[in-house]
This record gives sequence, structure tokens and C-alpha cells, in this order.
Amino acid sequence: MKTYVIVGGVAGGAGTAARLRRLDEQSRIILIERGEHISYANCGLPYYAGGTITERSRLFVMTAQRFTEVFQVEVKALHEVLSLHKEEQFVRVKDLTTGNIFDQYYDTLVLSPGAAPVKPRIPGIDDPSIFSLRTVEDVDAIVKKIEHHQTTRAVVVGGGFIGLEMAENLKERQIKVTLVEALDQVMNVIDYDMAAIVQQQLREKGIQLYLKDGVKSFERKKGELLVTLASGTVIPTDMVILSIGVRPDTKIAQEAGLKLGSNGAISVDEQFNTSDPHIKAVGDAIEYPHPVTKKPVTIPLAGPANKQARLCAESIAYGACRPYGGIIATSIAKIFDLTAASTGMTGKQLKQAEIPYAEVITHAGSHAGYYPNALQLAVKILYDPKTGLLYGGQVVGYDGVDKRIDVLAAYIKKEGTVTDLTEFEQAYAPPFSSAKDPLNMVGFVAQNAMEGISHIITWDQLPALIQKQAFILDVRTEEEFDLGTIPGAINIPHTEIRAQLAQIPKDRPIIVACAVGIRGYLAERMLVQNGYAEVYNLTGGYRTYQAVHNELEALENPEEARIALFTPSPSEEDGSPRALQSDSIALVDACGLQCPGPIVTLKKTMDNLSQGDFLRVLATDPGFSRDVQSWSKLTGNRLVSLETKDGTIEAVLEKGATKVSTSTTQSVSDGATIIVFSNDMDRVLAAFVLANGAAATGRKVTLFFTFWGLTVLRTKKPGKVKKDFMGKMFGMMLPKSMDDLSLSQINFGGMGPKLMRKRMKQKHVDQLRSMYTQARMAGVRMVACQMSMDIMGIPDVELLEGVEIGGVATYMEAASESGVNLFI
Ligand code: FAD
Repeated sequence: MKTYVIVGGVAGGAGTAARLRRLDEQSRIILIERGEHISYANCGLPYYAGGTITERSRLFVMTAQRFTEVFQVEVKALHEVLSLHKEEQFVRVKDLTTGNIFDQYYDTLVLSPGAAPVKPRIPGIDDPSIFSLRTVEDVDAIVKKIEHHQTTRAVVVGGGFIGLEMAENLKERQIKVTLVEALDQVMNVIDYDMAAIVQQQLREKGIQLYLKDGVKSFERKKGELLVTLASGTVIPTDMVILSIGVRPDTKIAQEAGLKLGSNGAISVDEQFNTSDPHIKAVGDAIEYPHPVTKKPVTIPLAGPANKQARLCAESIAYGACRPYGGIIATSIAKIFDLTAASTGMTGKQLKQAEIPYAEVITHAGSHAGYYPNALQLAVKILYDPKTGLLYGGQVVGYDGVDKRIDVLAAYIKKEGTVTDLTEFEQAYAPPFSSAKDPLNMVGFVAQNAMEGISHIITWDQLPALIQKQAFILDVRTEEEFDLGTIPGAINIPHTEIRAQLAQIPKDRPIIVACAVGIRGYLAERMLVQNGYAEVYNLTGGYRTYQAVHNELEALENPEEARIALFTPSPSEEDGSPRALQSDSIALVDACGLQCPGPIVTLKKTMDNLSQGDFLRVLATDPGFSRDVQSWSKLTGNRLVSLETKDGTIEAVLEKGATKVSTSTTQSVSDGATIIVFSNDMDRVLAAFVLANGAAATGRKVTLFFTFWGLTVLRTKKPGKVKKDFMGKMFGMMLPKSMDDLSLSQINFGGMGPKLMRKRMKQKHVDQLRSMYTQARMAGVRMVACQMSMDIMGIPDVELLEGVEIGGVATYMEAASESGVNLFI
């Protein structure tokens, strides 16, 4: 009887053991795992941290006991392989429960030890509030920190998949999240132009980004954890999630003298053989030639680890059989409302590998434009400009990203070409795709470029051409042009080009740009056939350009980042806004007005517009930014863009169809909204009791703090705050924080609140501050009224972390979704 020993009991290890047993009922199989659990869903850990996966037990795909029952595999959890002795064919194992050490002999050894989070030697890195995420034990520690210690702020270091998933999940827990990344972009598996869209989404969702700025040190000052960046920026926080990558966990392999690659991964051949004939290896710990570059790579992903396990087991049971085809790194992540996915090689990797390539970007609808809710999908492909061989693909969007990336991955793996994409036959009906799928479209664009019918230029090639005195022609409508364009561009809508050829110089290179590239292509064809010798169409159009440029600006000034909303938008297939019925865009200047002034003025103007008309609103009231988002959602008008520059908020809205009240048929909404007007301790307690109770029943609860109620949200240590005379007066009169509130009755010169606190303790009723923490944990939304803050001279720095600032529209949006509305 053969003895097979497998080190590592999760994706690669457990997979190999299970398949091996299915193929060989007679052998002895021993699975050794250092941790307490085997076969658990490490990919689900961020979602358990965020509360989307509510039951911890769901993380365990299989318990050790069940694995043994089903597969007759000897599972040794909480056992660590200390060393490997290849000449004698045994591993030295430590039972981590008893401390016993024993030697386990094998006929074949399979190593699937995975990869461990990188922990660089940064000063202060061993602080107990700094966490990595690899195992169930790690996520337990993170959840404990969130739930049992007051955790309202988190810094995520590293903008890869795990970092982004953690940022989103911490935000789900109402934690203020700052993301720090040493590179100039998040998600290094996609190119800058696609990552820019992801970054815009992160900013829109309230994640503060510090890019191109690594961590210099962690330190504790007066009990507070401070993260200092290379730029000198200091971020105070309650916890840090370190997710700056993983490194093959191959110490035992290295010490045993197995052949390793430059990054410490175990080199294997197409049957997963290592340099030792009796040892195989799979998963995150191996390196294997990339199908495109043929150079060894290590790609830590669950799909490949599982599939390698299957093949590895076959090669053990049957001897050399199906050779492994390698990994092209197909990956996907949910980032709030967006999905971002990648397969094959990126532009950066191709450059590094010195492989000549061409690229195109399209923004097509996820399904037929005339069917409701078609959402734009950014697709980028990279290919051999001569043969059209596909090298890589990236897709970012709201809907249908997964199927497009999977199709691209299949083509790339099968050495498909741009022409294959043009002929790709999709399952089509209007709710699912278009007669020409986005993948057909991107194929058409690339094919045109290959055949010289169109000349593509990318956003980063623009400067060189502009230096050559290129003429930039924006061929969108005047309204779109007014909303923003490439500096120096001249606007001639594509439908007017033939009539206005005289305006376009023939002796200069011409760059045509539209929203997404379609109208640019039409214009390019018109110009070329009218004798223009050098015409280029900007790939991805202004949509890509704008995201990239907002992000490039934000690199210089992270605090003032602009956001181009990539919200699901009912645009035409060529990227132009739908049904623009008016000739011009209306303007409301509400600068200087305080809440609810800007919203009231906006509403008045909007009432006089027709469906499809556009309105631009300028405001300086900081609460307007959130208010306008709520107002547009509530009223059915579409928020096209929202930007803040130099303190002025600019919102562009498109008038939607008038919302018809459905109150007779609609069920009462499930939320609860409580206006906290008072700062009497007993009244505030009542508000929190109700809020926590309602949240516990699964209701979405909003507490809207206005006038005296704002005191509850004051932080004890706001730092230095500049105030005018009235602000100082109010500051002196108001209680400093929720810990200093008085009772509405029987105050007894301050004794009343003390008695009340004592009584609450006796009766095991939580104190106000812990009720506040519970409310935060339960996801209760806390909104401070901007207008009251202005009147009472309370600036935002004086508020507790994680509090939103809003006005009437924010309240009305919450109230409209609530069956319970209370004023306390
Ligand atoms: P692992 O699954 O890491 O298993 C290795 C095991 O070996 C570990 O449990 C370790 O304790 C054990 N071990 C190591 N050394 C020893 C020793 N000396 N003795 C005994 N035991 C040892 N991939 C995706 O494709 N999609 C995702 O969405 C995704 N999300 C992820 C989220 C998180 C938080 C993490 C951590 C990973 C995620 N991954 C994802 C990556 C994926 O989990 C890994 O690629 C996959 O688990 C690799 O399998 P493996 O068997 O090589 O290593």
C-alpha cells in the first residue's frame, strides 16, 4: 500500500487528497494542516468580516471529521511539518496540541503550503491592532476587534483584491476607511485606465485614498495608533489591515534544497514534479511558465490551485498524464456596486516582457440599450498588432462583467484572436446582451485598427501628439462638451463635421474624441475620406480620459479628488446622454445658500424643465453633496456628475420622468428614521434604545441629529478648531460630548445624570456611549444636520468619526424609506 502525505489542508491540499482517494481506494492518504481547520473558504473571509456572511460555520466547506468519514483520509489538523528529508522520504511533524514530534514516511509527498501575507519590517508593525487576513483565526481576531473595541476608523494598507474587499466590508460595518497604496493605482492586475474607474468608485463610496504613498511607520501616541506615510501624512486609526501581497510559504522546501524560483516559489514541471522525484507541489507556493511569456510566474488564486490539485492527483494515481497548461491569472472582485475583472496579461506586463502589443477600450451597454437598465461596461483588450492574438482582457462595470471576462479568458487560453471575438456567438435576447455583444464590439474596433481602417490613440499617447501640434476635435454634442472636455479641444458634433470641414486644419494631426469612441470613429472615417492624412480616434473616449485625469490630479492632491460618477446611466449606445430634448443646459447658482436653500432652488428650476433636460447646480453648502444624491434618488432625476473643486460643488442632473406616487399599492417601507433634536440625556437614551431595537429587527435606521441633538455627536478631543464669536459662545454653552448631557427632569445640579447612570448600571441597562457604539455596529446611520452645524458653529472636525453630514434631502430620502418617523 502506497502512503501519500499532503502538506497543507486547504485548496490545493484538500483537493489533491479528495481526488486521489476517488482514483485510488487502497492507498494511505495523510493530510497535515498547521491550522485548526481544513478546507475552509478563505475567499469568503472578507465577507464574514463585513457581515455579509453571517454564520461563521458557513466558512467551513468541510470539517476534518467529515473529510475523514467521506474520503478515509487521515486528517492531522493542528500539526505542523517542521522539516522535510527528501533522501530518506519523511517529514518531521509537530503535534501543536501536545507538542509531540514524530516522523512521517511517504512514497509521494505533495506540498500545498500556500502563500503567507507579506509583513515588511516597518517600525511599529507588531502593534496588536495591525492585522493580516489569511486564516479563520485571523478573521476572528478582526471581527473581535470591530465588535468588542470601539472601532470607527480603519486603514487598509494595500489596494489588491483582498485590500479592496476588506475596505468595502469594513465600510459595510460603518467604519471610516482609508486605503493606502504604495503604487500609483489600486488593483495592479488591471491597467491604470481601468483602475481609474475603480478608484473613482471607491472615492464615491467614501473611501479616502492615498496612492503612490507607502507606509513609513506605525506608532502609538497617547494610546492612539498613528500611521505615518512616506509623504509625511499622519493618519490616526483604530485598526490596520495589512494586505500588501503574499509570499510563497516555502521555508521547509527551501531548507530541504528543492529547486525554487527567484521569489521563493517551488519550481514544478507540467506534472507538478519538483526537483525531487518523490515530491510534487501545487497551489500558491509553485511557479510555472506563463502560457504567453513562457517565463515562470506565481499566481495565487483559488481556481488554479483547485484545478492543479485534480491534475496532480491524476498524475500520482496514473503516472504522467494530462500536462498542465499554466495560469493566465483570471480574477474578479466586487468593489461596492462595481465589478472589476482581469485575464491574461496587462499592458504593464507586456511592456515589461518586451512583447509588442496594441490595445483598445470600449464602453458598451451590458445588454440592448432599448431594454431597461442597460449599464455601461468598460472592456479593454490587449493583442498582437500583427496577428491579432489575444494577450489580455480587462472588464469593469456593473452588470455582465463575469461572463465577458470568462469568455475572454477562454479565448486567451485557446490562443484566440481579435477575429474570434468579432465572430463570437453569444446567447442574445434584449435583457442579456445586444445583437452585437460588447465583446464583438471590442473585436470590431481592434480589427478595424489592425486593418488600418481606424487609427487608435490611447490617453497616455495624447501628450506626445499634442506636442506635435495635434488638433483635438471633440465630436460630442455641445451639451456634453460643456460638461467637460480635453483641454484645448474644439467642439464640432460629428453630425456637423461634413459642413464644417473648413474649420479643421489639414496640415496637423487630428485627434478625434467622443464619449466612448463610436462617434469618434464615425468622424475619423469622414475626415480620412475627405483627405485628412493623420487622424486618430481616442480609445475609450472622454469617459476613460476623464476617469484617468481625475485620478492623475488626485495623485497630486488626494484631499481634493474629483469624482466623475460612473453611476448606472441610461446613455445611448454611442455614450451620448439619452433623449436630450433641450438646446441648452440650465444653470442654478446656489453658492452661498445654506441648506435647504440649494435643494429648494434646484427643485424650483427642475420643475420647469422637461424630461431629458439637463441642469447644472453650483453650491457651496458642504451638505449639498450628499443631499443632491439623496434628492435625485428620491425624485427619479438622474445625477450625471458630481464634483467638488475649490470648495464649490457642481452637480449635473438630468430630469427624469415624474415619479408617480404608488402609496396605495406600495407596502410601508421597512426603515426607521428618528430626528434627535434634544440633548437631554434621557431623551437621547430613548432615541438610541429605539434605534438599536429597530436595527435589531432588521430595519434600516437613520438618526438625524439637529440643533441641540448635535451635541451627542461632538467628539471630546476635536483638536484646534477655529470658530467665530457665536460659535465660541455656543461651544461654551453646549455639553462637550454625550458623556456630559443633563436630564430633562430632576437634574439636581448635575446629580440627576449621575444617579441615572448608577441606576442604569444596577438595572444592567447600557450607558449612552455603549448604546452609541452598538448602534454603529448595527449599521445605524448617523447624520448631522448641516444647517444646524452652521448655526451652532460646530465644524465637521468636531464630530465623531463616521458621521455623515446632510440636509433636508438626506432626511427626506431616509424618511421616505421609513415606516416609522419619530421626533425626539
Ligand atoms: P492555502 O489555501 O493557503 O493552504 C495552505 C495551507 O497550508 C494553509 O492552511 C497553511 O496553514 C498550511 N501549511 C503551510 N505550511 C505548513 C506546514 N509546514 N505544515 C502544515 N501546514 C502548513 N482566490 C481567488 O481565486 N478568488 C478569491 O476571491 C480569493 N479571495 C481570497 C481572500 C482571502 C482573504 C485570501 C487569504 C485568499 C483569497 N484567494 C482568492 C486566494 C486563494 O485562497 C488561494 O489562492 C488558495 O487558497 C491557494 O490554495 P493553496 O492550497 O495553495 O494554499
